[in-house]
Amino acid sequence: MKINIAQLKKELGGTQTFSFQTSVDELALNQREEAWTDNVLVDGVVTNKGTYYEVTGTIHATLKESCSRCLESVVSVLTIPFSEKIRETGLEETGEDSEFEFSCFTGDEMEITDLIRENILLAKPLKPVCSENCRGLCPECGANLNISTCGCNPIKIDPRLAVLEKLLSKD
Ligand SMILES: [Zn+2]
Ligand SMILES: [Zn+2]
Repeated sequence: MKINIAQLKKELGGTQTFSFQTSVDELALNQREEAWTDNVLVDGVVTNKGTYYEVTGTIHATLKESCSRCLESVVSVLTIPFSEKIRETGLEETGEDSEFEFSCFTGDEMEITDLIRENILLAKPLKPVCSENCRGLCPECGANLNISTCGCNPIKIDPRLAVLEKLLSKD
């Protein structure tokens, strides 16, 4: 993913929008056990801030993995906002280098693939759940407690959910 900023370079304070559709493969996302699927959409705007460029936007990515409680597969469509500062390499050191994690372009083309990849990986949920109310598996017999109840210890139901529980058990 490259943004040509030849024109933007000449306009201090100027902005330039961008929009990309890229793939999980291009971003090399599935290197471990991750299961990112479908295309990844990225859109945003680059602003010429004088000594650096600010790149802000939104990434849309889809992740398929297992619920950390019941192990059913979960598809999460993530909307990931990002904002990064990018500097052209080779410019004079300013003493603010720690601010610039990605000084990743020279010339007129700004490469943002790594930036997008990092933001996607940071946004990955640590403990995905199929639903906030997922009851998980019975630690005794392994039954999926969302689907069936088993004969093991009774589950403690949150009183706030008890009303809902009553309604559901009517069918
Ligand atoms: Zn679950
Ligand atoms: Zn059980």
